This record gives sequence, structure tokens and C-alpha cells, in this order.
Amino acid sequence: MNEVELKFHLIGRFKLSKNGAEAKDGIAGVIDDANKNILKKGAPKGRGAEIVSWGVDDTIMVEIRSDRYVRAHDALLRLRKPLAGALGKYRIGIRGIEVEKFTITIPTEKPLKKLKIPFVRSMQYKSGNILLELDITGPQIEGRVPDRIIALIVDKIKSQKYGKKEHWELLWASKEKTPKFTGDPTQELIKRGWIKHGSCRGQWIFGSQITKVFRTFEQIVEEEILKPLGYHEMIFPKVVAWDVWRRSGHAKAIYPEMYYVCPPKTRDEAYWEDVIDHYKVTLEVPLDMIKEKIDKPIGGLCYAQCPPAWGFLEGETLPDDILPICVFDGSGTSHRYESGGIRGIERMDEFHRIELLWIGTPEQIAEHSKKLQKRYKHIFEDVLDLQWRMAWVTPWFMAQEGLGGLPEKKEVGTIDYEAFMPYSKKWMEFQNLSNNGDKYPAGFNVKLQSGKELWSGCSGIGLERWAAAFFAQKGVDPNNWPNKFRKMVGDLPDVFKFL
Ligand code: ATP
Ligand code: ZN
Ligand code: MG
Repeated sequence: MNEVELKFHLIGRFKLSKNGAEAKDGIAGVIDDANKNILKKGAPKGRGAEIVSWGVDDTIMVEIRSDRYVRAHDALLRLRKPLAGALGKYRIGIRGIEVEKFTITIPTEKPLKKLKIPFVRSMQYKSGNILLELDITGPQIEGRVPDRIIALIVDKIKSQKYGKKEHWELLWASKEKTPKFTGDPTQELIKRGWIKHGSCRGQWIFGSQITKVFRTFEQIVEEEILKPLGYHEMIFPKVVAWDVWRRSGHAKAIYPEMYYVCPPKTRDEAYWEDVIDHYKVTLEVPLDMIKEKIDKPIGGLCYAQCPPAWGFLEGETLPDDILPICVFDGSGTSHRYESGGIRGIERMDEFHRIELLWIGTPEQIAEHSKKLQKRYKHIFEDVLDLQWRMAWVTPWFMAQEGLGGLPEKKEVGTIDYEAFMPYSKKWMEFQNLSNNGDKYPAGFNVKLQSGKELWSGCSGIGLERWAAAFFAQKGVDPNNWPNKFRKMVGDLPDVFKFL
């Protein structure tokens, strides 16, 4: 599946400034030569592209068949220059490229569902193949649109075959630990009045007791990780523009899970007067009227936390001697539309996270990841005393094709940290640690002075997830908490009484 056997059939036309009949012999020479040389260049023997028929009048028509080695649309582009050369003698110019017919055959075991893809006129399944009929012209060929369409379809075929789930591989597991508590932590927190539902979906108001626990988690992170590993604090934006997500790659997938941010079409009071008056009279917020008066989304609320930080480095060149750089952000909320998956304080639409971001050479990224893993282990074993484990996770199709890296070999990928939840007997991811390779420096065009490769890594510490894991195993009664942690938390405030 890695090397898909593609077939291409293209009928294209080079538009001419005048009739090209007088240049026929020259064109024939170019085509003969192309079939032997330039349309075979880079392809194994017997492979590549072939012009199977051609003709000339006000245009030069070429019919090309090819395999994946010299894709027919690349072949068409390769012809332009030599043809222009042959036509030059007769003062005939090439005015553009048109595509009359372009079919691509992609093997698949099963048909795909009906899809709406730009520049795809039709998509049919026929005996083990998808036949794509494209509707494109010169600018799309030059803009490499066919290659992106093929990559998209091949991805869909793979995820249909292997599923979208992750391949999961255990790296390490703690001892089994006898839980001090076996209930649902969220229910217990509600019962004790430590949390109450916020007015939005998947949102909680955290009372002062649990807030103190969160702050203690932050203090542990500060003492055990941020200080010893030399982290510096930054404040990352929490409204993220499309351009950031285009560069980070999130624009490829984020849509069903993001919270959209729309500004008003204008700040003008008069423009909003009817909405204001409507509310004053009816005491109802007129959502349909508002919908008409707000603009298209400029982006969305913080989703993954580190992408907008890269705007600070965008287009810059860094001296090598300042690496590795370690920064973190804990300045605000993250938001995800979690739909049916919402669950207590374990899966929320609004949550709090400390995001660690480290930047350096590939070796530094791997080395830092090892240091972090050691520090995390100390926290979860000696401070919080959790039953937890680490797993190497890779999207399924990457694992199938051996494309997922390995953590020991400083390769790109993610470690999920999971805690055992006694009440459900399931494991819950409570944080992760990723080696992102060159993805961010490449996406945001950040370079090293030496020209060496620049990589980055990040780790998202979910405060509610830490709390959910801790309370699920230890309960909410401080008497059952590990001594060291209990001391750090100190007395729990008791602020409100309700009658
Ligand atoms: P899950 O599979 O549990 O949805 P994820 O793979 O979507 O997690 P990441 O995108 O890796 O999570 O996010 C990094 C960290 O952010 C998680 O390990 C977790 O601590 C936290 N996190 C993500 N989504 C949520 C959420 N909905 N509620 C609370 N914390 C979250
Ligand atoms: Zn990140
Ligand atoms: Mg998720």
C-alpha cells in the first residue's frame, strides 16, 4: 500500500499563438525524443510516461499514458520547454495549457463513499480500482493539485482499510496499586460541592478546594520540571487564526472539534441597535438576528496550545548556541467540542493545561524527552503514587507501513501517559509527550544559523486529567492521599455554605 500502483491517462493541449502545422516535423522530433528521454527520466527501465498520440493545428494535442513514476501531468509540464524550442523557429508561442481529459486509476479493495472533492468531476469504482475524472486546467497542473487529490484519496483508502484509530504499544507500566477509592471522581466532587456545572457544555466551575489541588499540581510541575529543566514562561495567544492552523497542520482535520470565533461585522452601535432593542423588549437574545450580523470565523479557541506560540519564531533564524530552548504556557483555557464523549472532569469542552515546548537539534529533542520522562516518572511514582503506564501511539496506517518512529531511536511520535480508573476499570490518557520532528520549524519557516535540522517537542499536562486520575485512585479525602502531596496541598479552604 505504501507504493500505490497508479495509472494516468491525460489528453492535454498546448494553446498556440497561431496555427502550428508548419512546425509539424519539429514537434514530431520533440515527441519522439520525449518518449525516449525526458518522459522516462527518473523512472525505472520500461516505466514512466508515454505520448501515445498527438496532433497539431491551433493547438498541440498530446495523449499521455503513464504510471506513478512520471505522472502524466508532470509529463505534460516536461514537454512545454522543448516544444516551445521547436516552435520558436516559426515564431509560434505557447499561450497556455488546457486539459481535455484526465483520468487517474487508483487501486483499492473497496469502493469509497461518495465524496465532494474540488476539481474531481467524477469518481467511480470499477473492479478493484477507483477511476477519478479530473476537471482541471493549466494553473492546477502547475499548482500540483492532482498530486494532492491523489494523496487525499490514497489516505482515505488507507484509513478505510486500517481504521483511524491509533496503534498502541506499551512502553512501561507501574506496579498495580490498591485503590483507596473506587467511585466516579466527578460524582464525588459534585457531592462534596467542590465543582459545579458551568453554564456552557462540558464546562465546570471549580471551587476553591479543587483549585488548590490544581495549584499544587502546578507547583509540582514547577519544582520537579520547570525549574530543574530550565523552562521559561511565555504567554501564548488563546484565539488562534486560520493561518496558524494552516502552518501547524491542524487545518487538515480540526473542523468538527474546534470552537469557532466570529467577530461582529461592525463595531457600529447603530448596526446593533435592533438587536439591543429586541433584547430590551423581549428579554430574549435574538440569535437569528445575531447570526446575520457576525462575520465569518477568524479562527478558533485554543485547541492544542503550542501552535500559536510559533508566531514568535516565524521566519526567524536562530543562533545554534541558544539551543535547546524550553518554554511553557499555562495562561489560559483550551477548548474542544467533544460531542458525545463529554465525561465529568475527564473529558470537557473547556479545560486547563500546562504546555511544555522545547526546540533544538534532533539529538537535543530526543535527549530532552528522556529527561522529561524521568521527571514525570518521579512525580507519578513518588509524589502522586499513581497506577499509570506509558504507551507509544501511532496512527494505525502509519504503524501498518512501518512509518511510525520509535522513542528509543529519537524518532517522531507521541507517548501517551495513562492512569487506571478503578471505577470504570478503564485507562485514561492524562497527558502526552511528543517529538514533533521538523513539523513546526518547517511549517513556520524557522531556521538554524548553521543550517542544521531544527526540531521540536511538546507535552500537554492536563490539570483536570491529573485530578481525575488522582481522585479516581485516591479519592477526595486528604487522609487517603500520599503524605508528601497532602503536605504540599495543606489545608483545604471551605468557602461557601449553602442553605
Ligand atoms: P483523548 O484521546 O483523551 O481525547 P487527545 O489525544 O485528544 O486525548 P491530545 O490532543 O493529545 O489529547 O491533548 C493533550 C492533552 O490535553 C491530553 O493528554 C489531556 O491531558 C488534555 N486534553 C485533551 N482533550 C481534553 C479534554 N477534552 N478534556 C480534558 N483534557 C483534555
Ligand atoms: Zn503541543
Ligand atoms: Mg481527544
